[in-house]
Amino acid sequence: MISNEMLQLGTKRSVIREIFEYGKIRAGEIGAENVYDFSLGNPNVPAPECVKEALLELLNSNDSNVLHSYTSAQGDAGVRKTIADSINERFGTNVTANHIYMTVGAAASLCICAKALTMPGDEFITFAPFFPEYRVFVESVGAKLKVVPVNTDNFQIDFKSFKALLSPNTKAIIMNSPNNPSGVVYSEETVKELCSILEEKSKEYNHPIYLISDEPYREIVYDNIKVPYLMNYYKNTLVCYSYSKSLSLPGERIGYIAVSDQMEDGGNMYAAICGAGRALGYVCAPSLFQFVIQKCIGATSDINAYKENRDILYNGLTKFGYDCVRPDGAFYLFVKALEEDANAFCEKAKKYELLLVPGDDFGCPGYVRVSYCVKQSQIVNSLPAFEKLIQEYQA
Ligand code: PLP
Repeated sequence: MISNEMLQLGTKRSVIREIFEYGKIRAGEIGAENVYDFSLGNPNVPAPECVKEALLELLNSNDSNVLHSYTSAQGDAGVRKTIADSINERFGTNVTANHIYMTVGAAASLCICAKALTMPGDEFITFAPFFPEYRVFVESVGAKLKVVPVNTDNFQIDFKSFKALLSPNTKAIIMNSPNNPSGVVYSEETVKELCSILEEKSKEYNHPIYLISDEPYREIVYDNIKVPYLMNYYKNTLVCYSYSKSLSLPGERIGYIAVSDQMEDGGNMYAAICGAGRALGYVCAPSLFQFVIQKCIGATSDINAYKENRDILYNGLTKFGYDCVRPDGAFYLFVKALEEDANAFCEKAKKYELLLVPGDDFGCPGYVRVSYCVKQSQIVNSLPAFEKLIQEYQA
């Protein structure tokens, strides 16, 4: 017998993937330029030039022993030091190479953290709207995911609901800012209130509640908005970072976990992360890309291209009368569906070749996600379709 749970996971495609696959079929029928596919969060802006230069330099070095060999299980020490120094320089922390664990993207970082923390009966809490894979990651290590309902006033945290979900079984909180799918950045005020509740509850329950900051979109922010670095607000913080979005390298699978230098029993936490990486088979992240990252430290793709897309889409849709959450970061626009059932709304949108993702799986029914990490021409050309869609509802 095989695991029924895994069978279910492997056979049921995510809604996002379903829509993406539909888009490919439709493109074959009517031409890709006539399909407005806003389903995936695949960065369309190319990786910065330094990635190519680093790759060529590394490959031409001909040191294949270094390039293609196993690094230390937790990642090359020099690479980890470069990352630690960069974090300290930007955020005033004191992390070292021994707080950094190299991983294959944020997904692996989150799985490793969940595995490293979970004991029988443990619960994790996250805030709607949330990245749907959190449920998979948390449940696969035997923990339970509880979700704080969305606060549609401003998409910050509804603290009353949050407090109601906390219990002595709460092991960790997963927070994602800038947020997929809302594009919202949690404010410093929100972060401070969250951390003060966590301090208080950790004391009351007599065990730490950990804060996991999932931040693959950290650098993708607009209008000089600051994204608070959670280690500076809460000692028991684990940062899950990825270069998938900031350097447009999602297929290269590279990122890291950073353990706060203030973490209680931080040495053991790091050891448990190494243990979880080992148990999950995630040791030794791709060596070539570890070294590329080291050479490109501090670089990002052209974030301004996303800002231009954001402005055209947000201004266009709000002008037509759509109710949109104004995104301060990431590359998603979260739009109120024009009827209660977002799935039905997305079906209607398909008539105009608009491929949107219903918010239900993100824990936010009644909304849809529009991924604007696409060519600007797609956004401009799609606007008449969005207008016709809203007119159908107004008729
Ligand atoms: N967390 C969030 C919020 C994401 O949006 C994504 C990918 O879209 C991930 C984690 C996984 O990122 P990675 O490609 O680095 O595994």
